[in-house]
Amino acid sequence: MSAISYRHYAQPKIEVKKQALVTVIIPFLNEADVLAVCHQRVCEALNTLHQHCEILYIDDGSQDDSWTLVSQFQHPLHQVRCLRLSRNFGKEAAMSAGMKAASGRCVILLDADLQDPPEYIPEMVKAWQNGAQVVEMQRRERHGESWLKRTTAHCFYRFMSQMSDYPITENVGDFRLMDQKVVNVINTLPERTRFMKGLLAWPGFTRTILSFDRDARLAGNTKWNYPKLIHLALEGITSFSTKPLRWATTAGAITSFIAFTMAIVIFTKTLVWGDPVAGYPSTILIVLFLGGIQLLSIGVLGEYVGRLFIESKQRPLYVLMEDAMTKPTFQYSGP
Ligand code: UDP
Ligand code: MG
Repeated sequence: MSAISYRHYAQPKIEVKKQALVTVIIPFLNEADVLAVCHQRVCEALNTLHQHCEILYIDDGSQDDSWTLVSQFQHPLHQVRCLRLSRNFGKEAAMSAGMKAASGRCVILLDADLQDPPEYIPEMVKAWQNGAQVVEMQRRERHGESWLKRTTAHCFYRFMSQMSDYPITENVGDFRLMDQKVVNVINTLPERTRFMKGLLAWPGFTRTILSFDRDARLAGNTKWNYPKLIHLALEGITSFSTKPLRWATTAGAITSFIAFTMAIVIFTKTLVWGDPVAGYPSTILIVLFLGGIQLLSIGVLGEYVGRLFIESKQRPLYVLMEDAMTKPTFQYSGP
């Protein structure tokens, strides 16, 4: 057998691509008024890192000029990529689309309205370089938000961290940095009902908390209203814990016990003292009370059955309509 010579085969060219240091994911819905300033401030913050980064805009079905605007954004040092969803799927789905597409060694989630100041990015990256795999940004102050919103948000965070079987840090929203490893884990979580505060906290890993003052919106209005927030809270509770089901069972057990004790008392009183059974109002009250508890328990059960129904359909979380990308033109020679 003749020996095979490999000399004649062309050596494959290995192209060494530098992975972006950070991917900043910015989901937006109708934010044409703020996007230009947002892009400028994010770029300025990334420039201080002196490495290639990626800015990933996710258009969550905007009806204004937002898409035309972002698809023209570019930067000589950083890759700018814009994904457009086919309709409004919600911020949670938009962030999930961003995390699937992100190519950086770590990922930062940022709101387009500049309530999460991009100037904190270098500090977050430093904490990550010092070993934290998740850098959570805890709100110290919430400028530009009403007393009612601040209080309800605070109560909700406190309630959720008590309900959850694993720690969800209070007053930490979506603004955070995550290592690629953490993002890969989150990308494998298949649920359709995406309560992000719970999902992002689920993988664990080493954490650092940094404090920041949340600014007021630069322009435009919040996309949330109270019915939407109540829906989000219900979704959060029922998609992350089965404790309400246990509460329904406990309420049932307690009322049955009370009813049983009362039955014994009434029965004894009638037999021993011959008391006539009195009290139309108390009967009505008890019937209404039990009816309320029963309806509430059925409602709780219905919430979980509804979640099962949605999950069983296995529909995609979002549909991508367009994908525009501009590569950096300048090569960093450093590490
Ligand atoms: N957003 C989105 N899809 C939605 C709602 C909001 O992508 O369905 C974006 C919005 O454009 C902004 C961020 O999510 O960049 C936060 O939204 P908003 O400021 O309305 O929420 P708030 O800060 O009041 O909680
Ligand atoms: Mg906002």
